[in-house]
Amino acid sequence: MKVPRNKWAEADHAHAWHPFTDQEIWEGEEPLVIQKGEGSWLIDTEGRRYLDANSSIWTNIHGHSHPVIVEAIQRQAATLCHSSYLGLANDKASELAEKLCAFFPGALERCFFSDDGSTALEVAFKMSLQWRQQNGQEERTGIIAFENAYHGDTLGAASVGGVSRFIKGYGECGLQVYRVSGLEDLQALPAVVVDTASAVVIEPLIQGVNQMRPWPKGMLSELRQWSERNGIHLILDEVMTGFGRTGAMFACQKEEVVPDFLCLAKGLTGGTLPLAVTLTTSEIYEGFKGPDRTFYYGHSYTGNALGCAVALANLSLFETEKTLENVDRKGAFLESALLKLPGVLEIRRVGLVIGFDIEGCGRKFCRRLREEGVLTRPILNTIVLMPPLSVSDEELAFLVCAVKSVMSR
Ligand SMILES: *Cc1c(COP(=O)(O)O)cnc(C)c1O
Repeated sequence: MKVPRNKWAEADHAHAWHPFTDQEIWEGEEPLVIQKGEGSWLIDTEGRRYLDANSSIWTNIHGHSHPVIVEAIQRQAATLCHSSYLGLANDKASELAEKLCAFFPGALERCFFSDDGSTALEVAFKMSLQWRQQNGQEERTGIIAFENAYHGDTLGAASVGGVSRFIKGYGECGLQVYRVSGLEDLQALPAVVVDTASAVVIEPLIQGVNQMRPWPKGMLSELRQWSERNGIHLILDEVMTGFGRTGAMFACQKEEVVPDFLCLAKGLTGGTLPLAVTLTTSEIYEGFKGPDRTFYYGHSYTGNALGCAVALANLSLFETEKTLENVDRKGAFLESALLKLPGVLEIRRVGLVIGFDIEGCGRKFCRRLREEGVLTRPILNTIVLMPPLSVSDEELAFLVCAVKSVMSR
């Protein structure tokens, strides 16, 4: 084991435990300790700069420490950080709920706040299931999900996910799940499954954790038609695709689909604070009114004012910086530059979400990228490139150069 370089690395090796990490490997390496963020860049305790090529695990939108975001946090922190959302409202959560619903006028009219992508999904599952129980459809208790899907790590969300290495040990103790591989498989489901399903859940346009795999064009709108025809709620997990990543504000807009539940998290605060939201329809909402029909669910930090204030700033930046206008152009630039590199086996892209496959080990490839000043994480042998939407053309060129030099080593 190497001797860690500084006191933070030392404290980390002595006391911290990282997510999705083999701690045996981790302890054998010098940890990178990030101390600062600036635009598309992260800076470590030694002053080295790295391009944040996966937007800090798919969260960052407008760059790190954007002055408008920083100002919103400071102003809100000095006003109100948090007050309970149980029995109380707060001005920032009210404004945010109104703004989010305005993207789906007359369709998605209610916001239920939570903290992370996983909890946004838990909310949708619980709402769908409880709604059935108290609205005369007690037989509908199942959830239909797609193979290799990822919907988060809390127990319920994990049990719906289909990535075997993530659900080992948990998959059997959660919801009642039917997994299908695609539309054809879905349409072949026996009536007993269809008639007892409460909801179908999907990552629209592209599965993230499944090595960035796009669905065929038109699939989402066909799925919506199928779910409507069969009286099954459609839950869209836009935790990754939401807030511009695909070139539209929300991926579902690209196929003009409005779900029954829309789950948002990662980009909601521009990659700064944990906040999530589940949007739903008036029909679902109305089904929770009256005696013994309460949605008994919530967290201590539900409706967090600081998070909501920064989410509002995030949304305002989309307008002032015309963020969406350049997403597809930037993605297309990266794609065409990567296509010219001989070591790229396959490339998959939606908007500014890119996965490309390499011959060798993804983890080693990303270690070398780090030496070239680029941070990202692989999924098996797929390298993920998903820089902040605010990334500049020069930074994209730097990124391509780094990939190229790792390949030519
Ligand atoms: C990240 C992610 C989640 C889980 O979100 P957390 O904030 O990590 O709980 C769920 N679904 C998708 C599609 C994701 O990318």
